[in-house]
Amino acid sequence: MSELTVIVPCKNEEEAIPLFYDELVKNTGFLEKRNTGLKVLFIDDGSDDGTVSAVRALNEKDPRVHLISFSRNFGKEAAMYAGLKAADSDFAVIMDADLQDPPALLEEMFSYIDEGYDSVATRRVTRKGEPPIRSFFARRFYKVMKKLSDTEIMDGARDYRLMTSQFITAVRSMTEYNRFTKGIFGWVGYETKWIDFENVDRSAGKTKWNFWGLVMYSLEGITAFSTKPLVMSSLIGIIFCFIAFVMTVFIVVRRAVFGDPVDGWASLMTVIVFLGGVQFFCTGILGQYIAKAYLEVKDRPLYLKNEKNCF
Ligand code: UDP
Ligand code: MG
Repeated sequence: MSELTVIVPCKNEEEAIPLFYDELVKNTGFLEKRNTGLKVLFIDDGSDDGTVSAVRALNEKDPRVHLISFSRNFGKEAAMYAGLKAADSDFAVIMDADLQDPPALLEEMFSYIDEGYDSVATRRVTRKGEPPIRSFFARRFYKVMKKLSDTEIMDGARDYRLMTSQFITAVRSMTEYNRFTKGIFGWVGYETKWIDFENVDRSAGKTKWNFWGLVMYSLEGITAFSTKPLVMSSLIGIIFCFIAFVMTVFIVVRRAVFGDPVDGWASLMTVIVFLGGVQFFCTGILGQYIAKAYLEVKDRPLYLKNEKNCF
């Protein structure tokens, strides 16, 4: 008999958890037919509401429900990693607690696994119900990412993905501190089937993302999966050297031929200020990568468990 682990990262999801559980159980009846057992692994990512007691209540009536609880909020990336690390099953799937990743797709996803795929990934084709400004920047991010990175990151990709043990082992072997799971999934390769679905609104509770959170997440994605910004800053340097050379020739010739009426303070200042800006910008890019390297070198754990709330 094989086993499926459903990994559910939760930050303050006490209202959503019972709804999620009911919906999941309703949609996993097919597992029995294919002789696959079910394990539901909630990850409490430092919630300060009743998330732990909501999961405990489920565990009392259904022993297939388990919980890993963190000592504080470490972020969804860490929660997904903790889940995959604990999943010693043949299959694992990551799902949001808010039912934005419809459990109804699971049966179809399994049919592709049975065809021989190593992972089945999902993608939202609409962003209905999302603030337009957020959709706009999300789209831009995926466009920029496509240009900057060799690793494929699909527009609208969710973390909702069904994986075989081979795929799980591969993702688990990537222990980096600055995690960007969407990129990691693409990086490990293997045969992946993509399924499209329409955006679904949150079942209960509120989204944990704000605009700045998403901006930082995008920067994380770029620095984690591309070093092209560094190349770009070198290129900018070369371009400015060339411009400076042309200007030098121009100014020297003008001085020699026409003499030198001393003015041009305004244009000189503009150039100095502009170049100062470009330099800070490029140093900033460099700084981002050094900061990431610094955090990796420290090799801190990705999360800490609060053992008394783990079962
Ligand atoms: N989440 C988490 N840790 C965090 C933020 C979010 O584990 O620090 C979980 C959250 O409980 C949910 C999933 O990640 O199950 C997706 O979060 P959310 O619905 O807020 O994101 P959105 O769907 O709006 O992108
Ligand atoms: Mg959500």
